[in-house]
Amino acid sequence: MKNRKSEYSNHLNRLLSCRKCPQMQGNPVHGCIPSARVISIGQAPGIHEERFGKPFAYTAGKTLFGWFKRIGIEEEAFRSKVNMSAVCRCFPGKAKSGDRKPNPAEVKNCSEFLEFEVRFHKPELIVPIGKLAIDQLMENTKYKLEDVVGGVFSRELYGVLIDWIPLPHPSGLNVWNHTDIGKACIQRALEKIKNHPVIQEEFSL
Ligand code: SF4
Repeated sequence: MKNRKSEYSNHLNRLLSCRKCPQMQGNPVHGCIPSARVISIGQAPGIHEERFGKPFAYTAGKTLFGWFKRIGIEEEAFRSKVNMSAVCRCFPGKAKSGDRKPNPAEVKNCSEFLEFEVRFHKPELIVPIGKLAIDQLMENTKYKLEDVVGGVFSRELYGVLIDWIPLPHPSGLNVWNHTDIGKACIQRALEKIKNHPVIQEEFSL
């Protein structure tokens, strides 16, 4: 138990002091908890998240937690039960439209933290949020969102057998979310999340 506690606090220290990616504009932000059966994976924090000290703390978070509320999960409950990981833990800076997408070297640099969290928590379910996060779980990254959002998948990740249920990025810039097909896929995905046994148990649904 003591080892587990120190392993977890070492992880947080390494994560919070990491400065491996020179192009990142912000410092690491985390949504880690010491014990979790579910992990979510976002893309990277936005410009406001460092100030709030947690992922999905601003407008995209409002949409994301609005989705979870539809299936009976409040934001506070989600944050207390789900280890909120991300492909990259620092704000990447702005692009012409929206936030800059982390580059492959940054994704690789940051993957050690996700790997630790998967090996440490051995989650039963992972919810990747947005294409970059979904890509980390797909063998073939040439797919349309409607081909995966609404589905339930299984695979081994870092030696752990997991189920995974993808969601699109909740950013207001993601127009797909507002199309008929997007809305239907999101609703299907939320139902799949709600009905997953670990979600039923963790949130007493
Ligand atoms: S994005 Fe990840 S690997 Fe890169 S500096 Fe931030 S915490 Fe470190």
